[in-house]
Amino acid sequence: MEQRLYIGGKFVDSAAGGVIEVFNPHDGTKLADVAEARAEDIDLAVGAAEEAFPAWSSMAAMDRGRLLLRLADAIEANAEDLAQLESLDTGHPIRDTTILDVPRTAVTFRYFGGMADKVQGSIPPVEAGFVNHVYRQPLGVVGQIVPWNFPLMFTSWKLGPALAAGNTVVFKPAELTPLSSLRIAELIDEVGFPPGVVNVLPGYGHTAGARIAEHPGIAKVSFTGSTATGRGLVEASAGNLKRLHLELGGKGANIIFADADLDAALAGSAFAIYHNQGQACIAGSRLLLQQEIADEFLDRFVSLTESIRLGDPLDRATEMGPLTSPGHRDRVLNYVKIAEDEGGEVLTGGTAPDDPALGNGCYVEPTVVRAAPGDRVCQEEVFGPFVTVSTFSSEEEAIGVANSVEYGLGGGLWTRDLSKAYRVANGMRTGMVWINCYKKVNPGSPFGGVGASGYGREMGFEAMHEYTEAKSVWINVSGGQPAWYSGA
Ligand code: NAD
Repeated sequence: MEQRLYIGGKFVDSAAGGVIEVFNPHDGTKLADVAEARAEDIDLAVGAAEEAFPAWSSMAAMDRGRLLLRLADAIEANAEDLAQLESLDTGHPIRDTTILDVPRTAVTFRYFGGMADKVQGSIPPVEAGFVNHVYRQPLGVVGQIVPWNFPLMFTSWKLGPALAAGNTVVFKPAELTPLSSLRIAELIDEVGFPPGVVNVLPGYGHTAGARIAEHPGIAKVSFTGSTATGRGLVEASAGNLKRLHLELGGKGANIIFADADLDAALAGSAFAIYHNQGQACIAGSRLLLQQEIADEFLDRFVSLTESIRLGDPLDRATEMGPLTSPGHRDRVLNYVKIAEDEGGEVLTGGTAPDDPALGNGCYVEPTVVRAAPGDRVCQEEVFGPFVTVSTFSSEEEAIGVANSVEYGLGGGLWTRDLSKAYRVANGMRTGMVWINCYKKVNPGSPFGGVGASGYGREMGFEAMHEYTEAKSVWINVSGGQPAWYSGA
């Protein structure tokens, strides 16, 4: 497959000739040498996107949608290869990339393909003698920067709404996991998107990413990544006052009330934290247990954790793969030390697996730590198979602990009491709440956070509004010169 930059409808080498080495996190072998974009390449891509914008934004919305639908079909036609590529590059188990990442990517492109001709303006009722039309217009060239945890899915979350709305895009995948984005660029080319509408440029954050952030030709940056980088983007956006959409970190609380269906809560809580090795911004990384059931639930949760099969992501029996990079594995393991230094108790895991077959990989045993809500491990995003456990006695206490972090992305609760479920969901300071389930995501439902988790929303009509600007047009239909004071 192509390993070069996709700019203006062509695959090209980077101007400076740099490469990014891409490694398999399962065994450390090299997968590819991908061209490395720097500022000069970003400038070329912005130029190509600016050139493509007038024709793309004025194309019939239904025709833009048709191209997105074709892309969704092409993803489904190449599903097996894409699943394998994503597993190789990220370490996601193939059973997950097959049933989640690839189908969800296709579904999201299809959703926004259908959405392209459904975003409408409005005609607000105004005073007699005037008609007011409000249009939704695309913004121009959009910069999109994504992290390494769900690289394939993020192509659809970002490109889908931006393109449906009529923007052109400069898209930067994370340096660690650029392969599936380049494969999507190949499919974009094959299905016939006009040159320059989508440009895909792997590159490092401090060079390529920083240029996107400050570029005066970019009208908006949609960013998914860490809160620290997000703060830097706010500063970098000042030059041309570009719009920002920030999907940042999370520290999801997963609250188990004593009256919950505990079997369902057990399975749901494992999925909440261990899916994708815990490398998910919406992971349920803080387990809050009501005192009456805490001991019993925790015993069962630890047993379940110890039964998870770690292994080669390409093996269909594998339930948990490696973390995506050695640096990240070390960071997660360091949190075990931080927990112990603060008096936390490691109930299981906390080390790399003692298995020679996994010796060169970035594996971490799934880890459960008993810790106090104020401890660093309960406050900071670990972004790995690492869950903290604490207990609570009342509904009010559970809400207080859930809200005691700077993040506010997702959170869950398990109870059979509908009124309590609503009260707690309303009390949680997050963009998303799951009741008797966890991590449900659908292209029709808004996705995003509050506080240090950022602002703006992916998905649904909200996403279309993120990528369009309201323009208000007034028409004088009075037949004469309006009075200077329209309310007269
Ligand atoms: P990161 O912020 O280091 O990197 C994310 C992206 O930003 C990468 O493409 C990187 O190259 C780029 N980048 C880095 N420095 C930059 C700079 N100075 N200017 C412009 N771009 C720059 O984050 P990460 O560690 O790779 O990803 C993990 C983080 O992403 C976690 O905090 C996680 O919670 C967050 N995340 C959030 C969501 C969400 O929807 N809220 C989803 C997934 C991941």
